[in-house]
Amino acid sequence: MKLITMKFGGTSVGGAEAITNLAGIVKTARNAGDRVIVIVSAMSGVTDQLIESAKMAAAGNKWGYLSTADRLRDRHEETLNILLPPGRLREKTIAQIEALLGDYRDICQAVSVLGDSTPRIMDAIIAFGERMSARMVAAVLSGQGVEAQAFDAGEFLVTNEDFSSAVPIWDETVARVDSKLRPVVEQNITPVITGFIGATRKGAITTLGRGGSDYSGAIFAAATNSDELIIWTDVDGVMTTDPRVDKRAKVLPYVSYQEVGELAFYGAKVLHPKTVQPVLDRGIPIWVRNTFNPTFPGTLIGAESQPGETVIKAVTSIKKVSLLTVSGKGMIGVPGIAGRTFGATASSGASILMISQSSSEQSFCFLIPSGTADDVRHAIERELADEIARRDIERVDIQEDVGIITAVGAGMRGTIGVAGRVFSQMGSNGINILAIAQGSSECSISFVVKADDLDRAVVTLHDLALIEPNSR
Ligand code: ADP
Ligand code: ASP
Ligand code: MG
Repeated sequence: MKLITMKFGGTSVGGAEAITNLAGIVKTARNAGDRVIVIVSAMSGVTDQLIESAKMAAAGNKWGYLSTADRLRDRHEETLNILLPPGRLREKTIAQIEALLGDYRDICQAVSVLGDSTPRIMDAIIAFGERMSARMVAAVLSGQGVEAQAFDAGEFLVTNEDFSSAVPIWDETVARVDSKLRPVVEQNITPVITGFIGATRKGAITTLGRGGSDYSGAIFAAATNSDELIIWTDVDGVMTTDPRVDKRAKVLPYVSYQEVGELAFYGAKVLHPKTVQPVLDRGIPIWVRNTFNPTFPGTLIGAESQPGETVIKAVTSIKKVSLLTVSGKGMIGVPGIAGRTFGATASSGASILMISQSSSEQSFCFLIPSGTADDVRHAIERELADEIARRDIERVDIQEDVGIITAVGAGMRGTIGVAGRVFSQMGSNGINILAIAQGSSECSISFVVKADDLDRAVVTLHDLALIEPNSR
């Protein structure tokens, strides 16, 4: 008997067909004698709608959140009407969803009166998506004879107070999982827990960041010491690139935690970048599988690094980033300029995605998410005011509209010439590389190109993941 934590993403709970598949998957595991913990996202698109409606509420637009509430009620109710026969369970679940939407309207009303929303209130609002879907999915499972119970993750998952990007307080989470969740599982009940959300010690709802249900899955897999974590999504596994960018993308049967960590950090949406953290030390295997093709084995993610058929296993990209360049002849040999620049960047709240230094030491550049660049430049100019006045530093430039493209593969470590091959591949396709950096783990290499070139660059580089012979 195994204990399996299964996370189902937005499309995997997005409608009646998806939830029917979900129920089939859970039943198959239970019939094989396994115990299952289910983690669910909000129905696809719901989190975006909630965010939008909260913004409208803050702008005093009452119609926005009221109509969102109606739409959300209709969507959940229609799904339940298809999946459950008329009767008490269906009525009870619809009433639960209606009650949640009542709370949602009350909070939005308060926001519209105040004309403003805080990160804390925002988290409370966007958590409603997962809270509704967990109740809906638990009811459908119950209706199909799988004893199931819905939970808000905050009952177990204790986080710090970083609203919108909270992280677990680990000891307390494990203690609560042991005392409150484990007994449920031992009674052979399938818990259906909200992904994406937790709660502070004082009980305020927090969220873990967009796409964070994968992270929730990993947190619960680790805290319950599950035998495996399965991420059920809408593609067959981790692929050589985003199939929406290049249709030739192929499923990778195996990737390491490290490789998938790099892929996720550099933009592969298939897994949230923090997903590997909780399971890494415990060596819990992660599977990425397709809810809509449940017999396909998917991708296994584990600790071991295995050579693939090609040195570059996968290619990924991040859109909407800005390139900042700090330059000046007086920088040569002056220690600490980079450190102070990055310190100033961090203090203005921006996260650095990639750093690159030219060999002459006369400049270095780094990448941050778009939208933060002006604030960051001001922070740097304040920090380096003396050096700028002395003209040791000449300029802090911003180039907007660039993207990062990253090639990942553990086989690149020790393989000479990957960067060269990438350069010539890009060059022969007329794509100009603005900056380059090698990941610290040496299993990734990143390039900056103009945003307009990005998708073409992905397709071009992806050729190498498809045809290049393994030269290890
Ligand atoms: P979920 O709602 O199940 O969490 P997401 O939309 O967050 O699903 O992530 C799955 C999507 O990630 C896929 O539909 C695919 O378009 C995208 N994606 C990006 N890069 C990759 C990749 N390398 N492999 C597989 N999918 C990828
Ligand atoms: N529903 C959340 C989001 O859209 C979390 C998730 O889907 O993982 O970001
Ligand atoms: Mg996701």
